[in-house]
Amino acid sequence: MTGLVIEGLTCRYGDATAVDRLDLAVPDGALVCLLGPSGCGKTTTLRAVAGLAEPDAGRILRGEEVLSERGRVVPPEARRMAMIFQSYALWPHMTVAGNVAYALRLRGMQRAERDARVASVLRAVRLEAMADRIPADLSGGQQQRVAIARALAMEPRTLLMDEPLSNLDAGLREEMRFELRRLHEAHGVTTLYVTHDQAEAMATADLVAVMQAGRLAQLGTPEEIYAVPASGFVARFIGAANLLAGRHLGGGIVACGGFALACGSGSQAPAGAALVAIRPHAIRLAERAGPNVVPARLLRATFLGPVRELACEAEGGFALRVTVPASAPLPGEGALLLCLPPEACRMLPGE
Ligand code: ATP
Repeated sequence: MTGLVIEGLTCRYGDATAVDRLDLAVPDGALVCLLGPSGCGKTTTLRAVAGLAEPDAGRILRGEEVLSERGRVVPPEARRMAMIFQSYALWPHMTVAGNVAYALRLRGMQRAERDARVASVLRAVRLEAMADRIPADLSGGQQQRVAIARALAMEPRTLLMDEPLSNLDAGLREEMRFELRRLHEAHGVTTLYVTHDQAEAMATADLVAVMQAGRLAQLGTPEEIYAVPASGFVARFIGAANLLAGRHLGGGIVACGGFALACGSGSQAPAGAALVAIRPHAIRLAERAGPNVVPARLLRATFLGPVRELACEAEGGFALRVTVPASAPLPGEGALLLCLPPEACRMLPGE
């Protein structure tokens, strides 16, 4: 098996560029999530990979084989790819087993082999006891499992999923994330998975490709994109991040209005506009002034169970979200000092 390579993919709708010179490699056997806000080009990319849309420029390859380029697109049915959508698209009059077996029958697979394949994938998605039910008698999560079983039964070389969990309620969605990850680990099919839900991407992906306006903003493991975001956009999109705009004075020191912050990591930007990113849980309440300690005002404290979220305004008007353990003493309303430890401050390019 070989992975997928997307090289300089550009897709336009009239004058609008939906995907803009996208470069992305999906390693063999990996699950890569395309993650980004609505309209950033995720679905268009997936459709191009499926062979449903022709690139205006660039190429899509699997190993050495060119699957798509302008004027030459291997048709979807010749790609050995299976696609799973948010609508499960099951045949309502067929049983679960019938739905899974249908495409195998069309392929001319013999009865005994087909039955064995259907039984095996239904076992994999834990639906063997429901093989004789029709889709209307299943929950949304179970219907989605049938769609997954049907895709796996085809033994695709590549699996494409477009927001596969977005029709499920929150509890089921969370459960299915782990289920998808388990199935991926069991089957190891190279998978491209579109979602706008960062928690879903973090839970399922080997690599997350964050997209912004048709381009790749960052590719990395879930840990990398969270801990070392490449830009303010990624830091904002992946988990809550405080971003303070300032000027890089050199040596990782950023002046933000009336105070300066030493940054322990980040881009080696030249002096000039810069952002400092810091996660809410990394900020601490300080007892006294010192390096990276910022005067602020507490505007609001919100109890969230295990933690309390403090909405603060730092000197210079910077809004800062701070999370502290709910068991910690609640600071009084008004002035307080916040320590933004250098090791938690990451300098990013200015916007
Ligand atoms: P969402 O999460 O909302 O599905 P997305 O990231 O998948 O968004 P795309 O559906 O790929 O984004 O759309 C990318 C851009 O292309 C958007 O600006 C969208 O409005 C535009 N677009 C998508 N399909 C068409 C179309 N058929 N005709 C014209 N413009 C389109």
